[in-house]
Order: sequence, then structure tokens, then C-alpha cells
Amino acid sequence: MIEMHDIWKTYADGTSALNGVSVKIDRNEFVYLVGPSGAGKSTFMKLIYREEIPTKGEIFVNGFNIGKLKQRKIPYIRRNIGVVFQDFRLLPKLTVFENVAFAMEAIEAPRKVIRKRTLEVLELVGLKHKYKNFPSQLSGGEQQRVSIARAIVNNPAVIVADEPTGNLDPDTSVEIMHLLEEINFRGTTIVMATHNKEIVNSMRKRVIAIENGNIVRDVQRGEYGYEI
Ligand code: ADP
Ligand code: ADP
Repeated sequence: MIEMHDIWKTYADGTSALNGVSVKIDRNEFVYLVGPSGAGKSTFMKLIYREEIPTKGEIFVNGFNIGKLKQRKIPYIRRNIGVVFQDFRLLPKLTVFENVAFAMEAIEAPRKVIRKRTLEVLELVGLKHKYKNFPSQLSGGEQQRVSIARAIVNNPAVIVADEPTGNLDPDTSVEIMHLLEEINFRGTTIVMATHNKEIVNSMRKRVIAIENGNIVRDVQRGEYGYEI
């Protein structure tokens, strides 16, 4: 599903974020990405959703060599990858329904299909009844549910989540994790960066640790492995 072959990433100012990373993540895996701040986790994920391109090396997502993708093919790969952020990134002037539908309008789905599918994913995340609300009228956990609905609405093969529980209290974080687990059970590969030790240690999934731009640990049913 995701393959990196000797990936190097150096930013324009000379900062090296990844130094020769190779990894293979299979369809349907759930992977936690851990490591200190500045280790390269966000960069690793930005390469997957093609927000950044590697300086050197090849990365394949869903069979596409995405570092080499032509500009006009980018929307196509984005539709196959849903992204969830710590700060939700909902559009404040759009309703819950519109925030989710927007992601389908971007791929020019027919209006009836958009309506049906948007309500379907809002139901899955438990927020169908709030479809007319604005983000400011929702709790943090609810906003994150909307952002997860937006990420899955186009049925992506992969979800990339950058500290999705970083702004949430412990109970809400656990709820969000159960939602992501359910989405994973339904067949979506998930790569999630987190500093949440309790969550990583209780879920026991594959854990990849990055330090100074290198993978230093990669364990099935792993643990968080850092004191915080
Ligand atoms: P993490 O997500 O683990 O905190 P990042 O991938 O955000 O790590 O950052 C890895 C390194 O790259 C850090 O040294 C960071 O300061 C640097 N970095 C990240 N983004 C940029 C950028 N756009 N320009 C320059 N340096 C960056
Ligand atoms: P730009 O090319 O101007 O950065 P993008 O459309 O690439 O605009 O990204 C706009 C914002 O959406 C950025 O914050 C980016 O991180 C985020 N983003 C990019 N791809 C996705 C995606 N597949 N799902 C959700 N958010 C995304």
C-alpha cells in the first residue's frame, strides 16, 4: 500500500528531515508513528499525501510513484488519501454537511451521490443529527469526527492522521481512537503520528519510531517506548 525506498528529504533552508528511510506498510495495517518533536514524523506523512516530495528516493502509494506524479494527477492521488490534523482544519463558514460534502464536490461527484454519501459518513461518525451546525457550535471531539468524516468520504485507501488526539481530553481521545479503529476494520490503512503513550500502549498495533530522520524501531504490536 505504502512503500518508501531510501527516502531523503531536505527542506529548502537545508534542514534534513528524513535521512534514507525505507519502509513497507501493507493494505489494512494500522501504524503508529512515534518519536520526539522534530524527528521527521510530519514530513513522513506529508510525503505520503504528497504535500511534499522527496529530495531523493521513491515513494509508492497505492501503486503510484507519487514523487514523480504529474501535476494534473495530484487530485487523483489526494482522493485516495484522507488526511486528519490535530487542529481539525474545518472551514468555519461552512456547516458540518458542507464541510464534508466539499471534499466530494472537489472530485465532481453528482449532487445526489454527494448528499447520500455525506449523510452516510456523518452517521458513521455519530454526527448526522448535527449536519446543519457550524464547527464553532461543536466540541473538539465532534469537530474531529467531522474532519474524520471528511477524510473518509471519498473512500480513500489510506488515512494519514497527524496527532489527531493532540487537542482532545483523554476520554474524547479514546472515542476518536475507537472510530479510527472501526474505519481500519472496514478496510482503510491508517498511519497515525502521536505522542499519546496511553493510546499506543493500549491499542498494541505496529509502532514505527523515527528519530533524527531515521527509523530506529519498527515492531508489530509495539509500545510507545518513550517516557513523557
Ligand atoms: P515531527 O513531525 O516529528 O515533529 P517534522 O517532520 O515536522 O518532525 O520536522 C522534521 C525536521 O524538519 C525538523 O527539524 C523541522 O524543524 C524541519 N522542518 C519541517 N518542516 C520544514 C520546512 N517547511 N522547512 C524547513 N524545515 C522544516
Ligand atoms: P496548496 O497546494 O496551496 O498547499 P493543498 O490543496 O495542497 O493546497 O492543501 C491545502 C491544505 O489541505 C493544506 O493544509 C494541506 O496540508 C491540506 N491537504 C492536502 N491534501 C489533503 C487531503 N488529501 N486531505 C485533507 N487535507 C489535505
